[in-house]
Amino acid sequence: MSRIGVIGAGPAGLAAALGAARSGHEVVVFEAADTVGGMAGSFEVAGVRVDYGSHRLHASTAPEFMALLRSLLGDDLQARERNGRIHLRDRWVAFPLRLGDLARRLPPDFAFRVGAETVTGPLRRPRPDPGFVDEVTRRLGPTVSGEFYEPYATKLYGIEPSRLTAELASRRVSASSPLAVLAKAFKARQPDGRTFYYPRRGYGQVSEALAEAATAAGAKLRLGEPVTAVVAGPSPSLSSAAVTEDVDVILSTMPVPALAGSIEQAPDAAVVRAIDALRVRAMVLVYLVVPRPQYTPFDAHYFPSLDVSMSRLSEPKNYRDRDDPTDRTVLCAELPCWVDDETWSAADDELGAQVADDLARAGLPAPDTTEIIVRRLPAVYPVYERGSEGPRADVERWLADLPGIVSFGRQGLGVPDNLHHVLDMGRVAAATVDGGVVDRPRWRDELERFATNVVVD
Ligand SMILES: Cc1cc2nc3c(=O)[nH]c(=O)nc-3n(C[C@H](O)[C@H](O)[C@H](O)COP(=O)(O)OP(=O)(O)OC[C@H]3O[C@@H](n4cnc5c(N)ncnc54)[C@H](O)[C@@H]3O)c2cc1C
Repeated sequence: MSRIGVIGAGPAGLAAALGAARSGHEVVVFEAADTVGGMAGSFEVAGVRVDYGSHRLHASTAPEFMALLRSLLGDDLQARERNGRIHLRDRWVAFPLRLGDLARRLPPDFAFRVGAETVTGPLRRPRPDPGFVDEVTRRLGPTVSGEFYEPYATKLYGIEPSRLTAELASRRVSASSPLAVLAKAFKARQPDGRTFYYPRRGYGQVSEALAEAATAAGAKLRLGEPVTAVVAGPSPSLSSAAVTEDVDVILSTMPVPALAGSIEQAPDAAVVRAIDALRVRAMVLVYLVVPRPQYTPFDAHYFPSLDVSMSRLSEPKNYRDRDDPTDRTVLCAELPCWVDDETWSAADDELGAQVADDLARAGLPAPDTTEIIVRRLPAVYPVYERGSEGPRADVERWLADLPGIVSFGRQGLGVPDNLHHVLDMGRVAAATVDGGVVDRPRWRDELERFATNVVVD
């Protein structure tokens, strides 16, 4: 049995805590917030449970985790059919894509150009030193890249897409060619091609259930206790304002810059410079309370165009069947931004007006908002910027070799991964603790495997 200190009660930390506690280790989890879930948590707005932006459990979740979540959530884990739309020029295209809908709704010149580029696709040669745009264009053609991925990437990452790396395309774009997209669109005609899973009480119920199971297995959960000091090495420890815990191993999901800032054995100057060089995009989430039972029947709307400032709009009530209030609904608009820009610091009513303006531009009804609630996430999308490959590799090397500490999860590795990926990381992180030490060769192999994760949107 080992003593394990876990930092963070998001899904990654909780999966690690559950795995470690069920393997008989003594586990204590420190969480800075008063609730569990991290950015996959849920909270209430006007009596409606909402998430930090559109969240769903994807059908690609490994059977092992589906079985775990089914056992923890029972009937509360609902299978749902995706029902989203993409705003493309002034039209709406169903998302996930569907063949019939594409035929009816794609602008004819767009469809024609994509068709021609599909035929000429095999002639497109990989460029030397390709970036994000080269890679997406090689796979999907200039029209899909130029009209969808490039503006969307500009919005999400805040820089010219030509400055993003090909690695980002590998991590975020699963489609290999327009024909693969069509094959998927064909599959989407069958109901299970569009299935996702969602808990009755909001996405945060996944983390709440994991926390309950970890606690039942013996883990101690210290909520509202940010870890402020960490000691690495053969006798690691972690401290909050209230306590210091001496442990055998620390499993950390805290953001890399925060870990570097709180660790006694500070990284050398080159690693500090590398951490500073890695930029992360923030997000402001604007929740509008709308005095009608439903705003639209769609779960999510996607806005690639730069004419609309939000990247996505979701309506949490449409993700589940439950006894939500019938006289109101809540919309959640995602506004990617930088932590030092105008959007980040805008007042709530300004943000509400900006979203209402976006809705009008997209031809959606006026929301007649009765209440605006704003939440801010400082670190959402790691920016895989050309030129940052060296610093990223330096940071990865530093993290992989930290004695007594395993850093994982979305912010602990600085990756854009889904919940099902971080559950896997948590399970593996716990499993690499053997006899009070971390099995480093195994962890390094697992890190290589995590690097092949592809995000599902
Ligand atoms: C807008 C948006 C939409 C998304 N949609 C989906 C989706 O549809 N499907 C999907 O699978 N995934 C989705 N994701 C990704 C999903 O939210 C993440 O994969 C997941 O939350 C990552 O979990 P984590 O535990 O690694 O990190 P986090 O959720 O960031 O949790 C880290 C935890 O550590 C805590 N912490 C940080 N510092 C300290 C400290 N010093 N001491 C103690 N605690 C600390 C934080 O408070 C937090 O609770 C989405 C993410 C965003 C932002």
